[in-house]
Amino acid sequence: MSTELLKGTCLCGRVSVSLPREGAASAICHCASCQKQTGSAYSVVVMAPAPDVTVDGALAEFHDTTVKGEPVLRKFCPNCGSPVETVSAAIEGLGVRVIKAGLLEGGAPAPQMQLFCENMLGWSASLPETARFSQMPGG
Ligand SMILES: [Zn+2]
Ligand SMILES: [Zn+2]
Repeated sequence: MSTELLKGTCLCGRVSVSLPREGAASAICHCASCQKQTGSAYSVVVMAPAPDVTVDGALAEFHDTTVKGEPVLRKFCPNCGSPVETVSAAIEGLGVRVIKAGLLEGGAPAPQMQLFCENMLGWSASLPETARFSQMPGG
């Protein structure tokens, strides 16, 4: 039986990730740490059973804490800075690994849930109303 894998890399390609599409879940996280780490409005993550997830390549770690003060490791590529994986006791307790969805080639699964909506930027829900360009406008 073959399992389709979701595969991806960091921006520079030194870190690669893979996880099975079947059984993978995806979530948007609006927490303040995800906003700062990604430099964006929210992060999109995919998670799958820990034994099925592979992350290859050297990673740097930032020791973050949750809103409850529990430790969180935010792992990133030391060469290009791409966020790669988030590790905490709560995540490990779920038996999954949490990978940034933006690393994946060919598209990540659509998110099924949104976390830390209390911290969501008000305009995040109205993005479909913004002007769209296929690339940079005027290019
Ligand atoms: Zn990199
Ligand atoms: Zn978050």
